[in-house]
Amino acid sequence: MKIILLGAPGAGKGTVAKLLTEYDGSVQISTGDILRAAVKQGSELGTKAKDYMDRGDLVPDSLIMQIMEARLQEPDCQNGFILDGFPRTIPQAQELKELLIKLGIKMNFVANLDVPRDVILDRLTTRRTCSNSSCQEIYNVKSNPPAEGGKCKKCGSPVIQRADETEEAITNRLETYNNKTAPLIGFYEKEGLLKNFLSLSSKDTVEEIKKALKG
Ligand code: ADP
Ligand code: ZN
Repeated sequence: MKIILLGAPGAGKGTVAKLLTEYDGSVQISTGDILRAAVKQGSELGTKAKDYMDRGDLVPDSLIMQIMEARLQEPDCQNGFILDGFPRTIPQAQELKELLIKLGIKMNFVANLDVPRDVILDRLTTRRTCSNSSCQEIYNVKSNPPAEGGKCKKCGSPVIQRADETEEAITNRLETYNNKTAPLIGFYEKEGLLKNFLSLSSKDTVEEIKKALKG
C-alpha cells in the first residue's frame, strides 16, 4: 500500500501505521521518529531540529523535504509505505506531489484520522513512549500501562514522557496542527485522494483502511 496518514497529534497515526505494516509488509515512515533518532545521535540534522521539536514547533520544510526525498528512494519503499506525520504543511504537500510524479509513484489515498478534541487531549497527556530509539513502543498510563516500574514490555527500557508532551508543548502542537496541518484536509479533498475515518479505536480504523484498500 502507499498511503498518507493525516490527523492531529494523538490521533493514533503511529499506532495505526505500525499495525498496517504487519498487514502487508509496507514500511512505516515517521518523520517524527526519524527526527528523534537524529536528535539522539546528535547528528547535524538532529542539532538543527531539536529546539523546534522540544517547543512543539514544526521543523523547517526544507529539512523535512531533504529527509523525505532520500527516504522515498530507499529500496524498502518499493513494497509500499505508510507516511506518518508527513506532509504537515501545504508547502510539504505540494513538494511531495511533485516528488511523487518525479519518482513515478501513485498513492492509494490519504487517510484522515478524525478524533474528537477531548479524546486527543486525554491521550496526549497520558501517553508514554519507550526511551529505546529502536523500539519506541507507545503506552498509555490509563489504557495500556507499561510493565512494573515503568519498563517497556517489549524491550525492558524505561518508558518516558516526551519533552514535547508537557502541557505547554501539547497546547502549542495542537495549535500548530490547526493552523498548518488541518488545511491539508482541503488540499487532498481537491486532489480527490481524501478518505475520512472517524477513529476512536486504532484497531477498527486499521480494518476500515484495509477494506478501503481492497474496494
Ligand atoms: P506528533 O505526536 O505531534 O504527531 P511526531 O512524532 O509526528 O509527533 O513529530 C514530533 C515533532 O517532530 C513535531 O512536533 C515536529 O517538531 C517534528 N516533525 C515531525 N514531522 C514533521 C514534519 N513533516 N514537518 C515538520 N516538523 C515535523
Ligand atoms: Zn521498548
